[in-house]
Amino acid sequence: MADNERLVQKLLELKRAKKAVILVHNYQLGEVQDVADFVGDSLELSQKAAMTDAQVIVFCGVHFMAETAAIICPDKTVLLPDLHAGCPMANMITPQALREKKREHPGATVVCYVNTSAAVKAESDICCTSANAVKVVQNLGDVGEIIFVPDQYLGSWVSEQTGREMILWPGYCPTHARILAQDIQRRKSEHPGAQVLVHPECRPEAKAVADAVLSTGGMTRFVRESAADEFIIGTEIGIIYRVQKENPGKRFFAVSEQAVCPRMKLITLDMVVSSLETMTNIVKVPERIRLKARRAVDRMLEIR
Ligand code: SF4
Repeated sequence: MADNERLVQKLLELKRAKKAVILVHNYQLGEVQDVADFVGDSLELSQKAAMTDAQVIVFCGVHFMAETAAIICPDKTVLLPDLHAGCPMANMITPQALREKKREHPGATVVCYVNTSAAVKAESDICCTSANAVKVVQNLGDVGEIIFVPDQYLGSWVSEQTGREMILWPGYCPTHARILAQDIQRRKSEHPGAQVLVHPECRPEAKAVADAVLSTGGMTRFVRESAADEFIIGTEIGIIYRVQKENPGKRFFAVSEQAVCPRMKLITLDMVVSSLETMTNIVKVPERIRLKARRAVDRMLEIR
């Protein structure tokens, strides 16, 4: 038996014995996506975490995602196979800095992208993901000032879509910031019939030349339902493994081969197996923070 087959066999046995579920983000390595019970974007993965009756969740993504699962499921054990898998954008805001901003804008409603620590979520009124951010802001009604953290590019796009002015935090995703409008134009000239799909974390100039601006979950649905057979993909390139596997007759081109999130590539199949075998690394959120963060996450999950 080849090494990978042996690992997959071992993982299946461990999953049965420990009643575990493996949740995997769309940007993860192909070998990790292949052993997932579910592959999805942040919103889909939080919804799966909320619904699962497994006792252990092995979360293959970055730290804030595992924390979100721990916020929603305090009675389950949440494992992150590599604790170094953090999101640089999430580190661009601290709870102290957010408290300071709230003091400058008393009474403002804080909408917090899920790409943040639990402590920042605890300082926020409601969370959102790139899949539901527009809906979340539309749903707020007439609340006065809105502070949107930490992604300025997602925030400016939501502002544009909803017509709501918002106070934007100057954070950004270094990986999506590398996806440039001129690279999209070049790919378009190489593949004139292709549909261009771009993530809302990209710069406004990149979004302006796209056919659709979508979360990764939105991209997978768009590709499945589209009559087109070629797509130019403007997000972290890990998604291409998934859409290619699900749509073998269609062709996918990355806007930029540089659009790689190094932290999303840390977890390997080997690590998933050893994480479950040794029950490391357990991600926990202190109860005081968890309860406050949960309110913001629940308010988001209630929006359909
Ligand atoms: S792709 Fe960007 S937002 Fe996603 S985990 Fe990596 S740095 Fe964070």
